[in-house]
Amino acid sequence: MINETSRHKGLRKRLVEGLKVKGIRKASVLEAIGNVPRHLFMDSSFINFAYKDQAFPIGAGQTISQPYTVGFQTQLLDVQKGEKVLEVGTGSGYQAAVLVEMGAKVFTIERQKELYTKTHRFLPSIGYKPACFFGDGYKGLPDFAPFDKILVTAGAPSVPPELKMQLKIGGKLVIPVGNDKHQDMCEIIRTDENDFTMKKHGGFIFVPLLKGTVNF
Ligand code: SAH
Repeated sequence: MINETSRHKGLRKRLVEGLKVKGIRKASVLEAIGNVPRHLFMDSSFINFAYKDQAFPIGAGQTISQPYTVGFQTQLLDVQKGEKVLEVGTGSGYQAAVLVEMGAKVFTIERQKELYTKTHRFLPSIGYKPACFFGDGYKGLPDFAPFDKILVTAGAPSVPPELKMQLKIGGKLVIPVGNDKHQDMCEIIRTDENDFTMKKHGGFIFVPLLKGTVNF
């Protein structure tokens, strides 16, 4: 039984109103954020933080992304119902849940064993069933490629070529690229077998995309 009260619903409604003011306009994205019980992705004692528009540390050196950032990336990704979407950096599973709410068929990959284990059990317990994988997101998921969309939720020093090559023709990769203090949100579209376009959309700060896996 999901712990969800009218207080949670009220706080979430206010969060969504705030995101609208900040420029998240796509109705399907606002609706998805309005549906995901963010307070369940962090300790219940942090309920007042759950519906603030802030990133929040939640253990294992990990953060749950700021709702505005989740809205921005999801809007830019332009997810359509039924699309096959790969998320790199499962973390708390919040962004994966938003993608499931958008109607996507979601694959998500996490490099830290502890987070992978926790999140791949937690998500189905509240009704979200993305396919969760433990592994190095730099490599993507070649066995399940190609994807309509790929979303990276950690800051990369450069665009991993493997991810570009796992896009369908016409598919889109959204990835923050830069150093540890600033990344540009990059929108990359595969226009042909070996042709890509790239647009930059403002600055963000994510935790870094790190190579390899961590077994604890
Ligand atoms: N999408 C998450 C945000 C998590 S923060 C959420 O909604 O909560 C970024 C996550 O990326 C962290 O959990 C980190 O461990 C993970 N990560 C970093 N490098 C990675 C890599 N190479 N492959 C997969 N996950 C990675």
